[in-house]
Amino acid sequence: MTDTMPTLRTLALAYLPPLDPSSDFEAVCRGLAADGITHIVLQEVCGAISLTDPGAGPHLARILRDTGLQAIACHGLERAPYVLRQPDPDARRRMVAAHLDVMRRAAALGACTYVLHLGDYPAGLEPAAAWEPVVRALDDLAAPAAAAGVELALENSLRVTYLARNAGELADFVGRYGHPAVGVCFDVGHANILDGVRVALDALRPYIVTMHLHDNDGRRDQHRIPGRGTLDWAAFVPGIASCPRLRHIETEAIKPPLGGTLADTEQHPPGEVYTRYLALLNAPGSGLRVPA
Ligand SMILES: [Zn+2]
Repeated sequence: MTDTMPTLRTLALAYLPPLDPSSDFEAVCRGLAADGITHIVLQEVCGAISLTDPGAGPHLARILRDTGLQAIACHGLERAPYVLRQPDPDARRRMVAAHLDVMRRAAALGACTYVLHLGDYPAGLEPAAAWEPVVRALDDLAAPAAAAGVELALENSLRVTYLARNAGELADFVGRYGHPAVGVCFDVGHANILDGVRVALDALRPYIVTMHLHDNDGRRDQHRIPGRGTLDWAAFVPGIASCPRLRHIETEAIKPPLGGTLADTEQHPPGEVYTRYLALLNAPGSGLRVPA
């Protein structure tokens, strides 16, 4: 050991459990724990349990306690009624109420980041008008998030027809909104499709609070494991530690398409996937220490 040893940034890796609505969440969690996985991501579909169910909290808390898993991150509701851009006031009120409910439940289970999707960019609208409903939603969400100890993470998109249309637009918005509980979820798979990983990371770096790590062919959002796509992980990984607000990182591979099942998804054993992530993230020169 010499004083020239680089300082490593310690970050927890939250594993997204492979689930669809027919999964037995408790059995999946037991399997993950047996594979040495310690931290997980919560999402709406906890197998047959829905995070929107008022009774889900105690049920999930018991499973986490019994398996020893820590749920440090939550992917917020992501179906169409729950995207942040809801121009209709009633739809927006319902959307905000649903997010507050799930976000507080997730926070009580240990989550400190909550990922949000923004919706589509309405054709023909100027940016100020396009973003205005998002501002209104965040005005109702940001303070309760801060009170719950949660950072809201607006996810970068993968299509120019989505909000935001590119990483620079998202960075501009989050920077201008300027609330300490509002940051960015950097989805490296989306960046690989839309902006390019380096361009997106450079734009969003100051605001990133969590990351979605998965691979694809550069065209489709395939949620593949690292190495099963075109993403240059060796070039990307050393940039992770440079994000000042980053709380933790998340796997987002082996995720069924919205409303789909695991049968639609390329499968790999979680223990092997976890080992692959750890090897990439802890590689010499990564600047990271990701504990197993
Ligand atoms: Zn994502």
